[in-house]
Amino acid sequence: MSSKRLTKKQLQEKQFLEDKKFRKQLIVGFSVLLIGTIITLVFFTYWCDTKYAYRKYFLYGKEIPGELVCMNDNSLQYHESSKVVKENKAFYMCSSKCQEHLNKHFREVAYAADAFSGDTICKSDALIGLKERGKPGVIYFKNNLNFKKYYATKPKK
Ligand SMILES: [Zn+2]
Repeated sequence: MSSKRLTKKQLQEKQFLEDKKFRKQLIVGFSVLLIGTIITLVFFTYWCDTKYAYRKYFLYGKEIPGELVCMNDNSLQYHESSKVVKENKAFYMCSSKCQEHLNKHFREVAYAADAFSGDTICKSDALIGLKERGKPGVIYFKNNLNFKKYYATKPKK
């Protein structure tokens, strides 16, 4: 009789320990989930900043696609700009305000001087590059040769 009672007590103890273990696993599981969620949120919240900082730095000396710049502001954009076709030429604008500016002052906005040769070129046909590493300002080039020559004269930091 006594040994049977002991077994019952042992069983309860065993159950208690198992419950404790389960609770511990549950807490660990929730903690991992919570930390994972926080990391994911932070990553996505700052994803644009990370991408923008990366582009400003690493696109220096490289050809930049039109949709990454605003041709009115002449700067690298935080978000992709939209394509505007005017006089059969494609321009990239960041906002309706910039688009309006292009419509009103087409000659000034659509054309730029080649940063190497100084020739007047239409931005829609130009090659686009960063003026300085780490800064959003962009410059335009008539052709690949001018593009390469411009960056060849700049110190490689
Ligand atoms: Zn703009």
